[in-house]
Amino acid sequence: MTKSHSLQSVVRCLAKACLWLSLSCLAQTTSPPPSSSASNAAVAPLSGKLRILVVPAFWSDYTGDTPVSPERLAELMAIVRSYFLEASYDKLEMVPTVTPWIRLSVPRPAAGCPNGAAVRTALDSPAIASYKAAGWDRIVVVQPRIAEQCFWHGIAGVNSAWINGVFDEKVIGHELGHTLGLQHAHQLNCGGEPALVLRPCRVVVTGDFYALMGKWNMGHLMAMHKAQLGWITPAIHGSGVAVYDLAPISVKGQALYAVKVVRGSRTFWIERRESSGFDAGAVGGAAGRAGISIRVVDDSIGCGESCVLNMSANGDDFLSNAALKVGQRWSDSGMTVEAVSAGRVKVTTP
Ligand SMILES: [Zn+2]
Repeated sequence: MTKSHSLQSVVRCLAKACLWLSLSCLAQTTSPPPSSSASNAAVAPLSGKLRILVVPAFWSDYTGDTPVSPERLAELMAIVRSYFLEASYDKLEMVPTVTPWIRLSVPRPAAGCPNGAAVRTALDSPAIASYKAAGWDRIVVVQPRIAEQCFWHGIAGVNSAWINGVFDEKVIGHELGHTLGLQHAHQLNCGGEPALVLRPCRVVVTGDFYALMGKWNMGHLMAMHKAQLGWITPAIHGSGVAVYDLAPISVKGQALYAVKVVRGSRTFWIERRESSGFDAGAVGGAAGRAGISIRVVDDSIGCGESCVLNMSANGDDFLSNAALKVGQRWSDSGMTVEAVSAGRVKVTTP
């Protein structure tokens, strides 16, 4: 299916960070902005089937080996399909088709990373134009890695993505997440202070280790992203005291997954993570991230796209023990959040 999309942006993803570019201005930037003012407003509800065409493609002058087989790409796409089915509680199915390797009509860019214009040129190559004309919902072009001049992993546009030779379900899934209109999941790390005071201390770009749109894992999309896509409905906390029973966001068919609290220019999202399904790797075991996690959206502290709050006592960037533990309270903007038990939170506002 196709959904309307007004997100006018292209994302290019580095090994550990991504840069936002405007489609109307593809001039190269050298450092990522701390946040985007778009605040995900362009994301539209999405359910049904998305037909994904994966096209492994050589530049016209490529003489190296075939770096990955279509069969292997099909295996990776099967994982991506399973991921989005689970993350959407069976609302969104990505149905992949992988073509044989093709050769583009354009040579590899002589220098620098292929920017959005180069990728668009590749997509306009006759071999791919016929696929585009066939009306696929998304086209993912996979190419041999250009490591010596380009270390980022992919670019995502509105309905297409380009993968720079990293044959990995996380990268393909992350870029497809961008094509749904999702932005990045960052981390706010204030150095393990006893009472985390929100301010522009340090934003770890894509440092949300819980989520696909953050750092290098297949953890579930954060509650805010699921709400934007129409997969969950959060409880809205207005004022006063209320207790909420939150289900783990990775378990299908539960009553409530998140609480949203708006305090002035700051929006908070409270959710629960436990080790199950695709969250087993991102949350469980040595990751030690289970429990109540809080995200904030606020441009003024560099978290316009969202930042997960690092509650870790040692300020560990990897978010080990970074959840709000049972019995802990945390306050900001006149709001107090208390983890009463494993899934129960008490939210207090004036
Ligand atoms: Zn990205």
